[in-house]
Amino acid sequence: MLPDGRRLGAHLPVAAGMVRAVDRAHAIGASALQVFGDNPTAWKRRAGPPSELPAFRSRLAELDIGPVAIHAAYLVNLAGPDEAFFDRSVEVLAHDLRTSVGFGASFVNVHTGSHKGAGVGTGIERLADGIALVMAEVDDAPGAARLVLENSAGAGFAVGTTVEELARVAEAADRRRVPLERLGFCIDTAHAWAAGYRLSEPDETDALVAEFDAQIGLHRLAMLHLNDSRSELGSRVDRHEHVGAGRIGERGMVRLLTHPSLRPVPTYIETPGMDEGYDAINIRRALDLAAGRPLAPLPPGAMELRGSRSRGAPAPGPA
Ligand SMILES: [Zn+2]
Ligand SMILES: [Zn+2]
Repeated sequence: MLPDGRRLGAHLPVAAGMVRAVDRAHAIGASALQVFGDNPTAWKRRAGPPSELPAFRSRLAELDIGPVAIHAAYLVNLAGPDEAFFDRSVEVLAHDLRTSVGFGASFVNVHTGSHKGAGVGTGIERLADGIALVMAEVDDAPGAARLVLENSAGAGFAVGTTVEELARVAEAADRRRVPLERLGFCIDTAHAWAAGYRLSEPDETDALVAEFDAQIGLHRLAMLHLNDSRSELGSRVDRHEHVGAGRIGERGMVRLLTHPSLRPVPTYIETPGMDEGYDAINIRRALDLAAGRPLAPLPPGAMELRGSRSRGAPAPGPA
């Protein structure tokens, strides 16, 4: 929990056990949790829900960890023109939303996707079609999580790279009568940086928040991914860095952690080395910055850790 009461969570691996992930969140001082619901790089979903789910839910309640976010598979692309790919994306996302009930999850977080050359406008309409289809598919699943669209770093034929594009997605979804409370947005700070938002400057964070509020409405900002960035401003390259140790830096992070309008927005870190002890280090860094305490130096080797989306290697963590 941040000093202002905002929930601060981490994306943690569940391979070693789901209850263990909750215990780990508690041990490192996280008060919320993001996980992959299934293999993030495959279409195939497991046959049935994990047997650990009831124990997972009760440990979450015991330790007051939440809200839980499920990060959807990276393959999902609702914005592209390929029919078969689109259909599969709808199917997988609907599956994740249905299983979210068992996880006790509040959010299923998915990337806005790529129009693959069809054009941003076409991609946005396509994405909204996909969202509406997913919602119709899960009409029979009361208590399903809110679908949360994450802003893009802008590589390739991305849609949803700017607040303006996200607002167009929201409008297109509204036109298809997707209920307000079932669709939200997530701002990933490293993606925003790569897209050209200079969040190293507190004023620019204020401007981004104000723009989001004016164009979309802060009530639709469901989550924040708090990641520092290793890449150049506006480079459209998505490389996460330890909190306060990247180009957004300490000053930028402090504003993101203390902005009064962001207080109700659960915040999750997706920083490098989550299963190598850096989960604890980065939660500590976020808590220290938010409380105005100086940061302890990072351990030697910290900056050599692979960013979570470096090229040419399978992603070891979320983006
Ligand atoms: Zn993501
Ligand atoms: Zn993210």
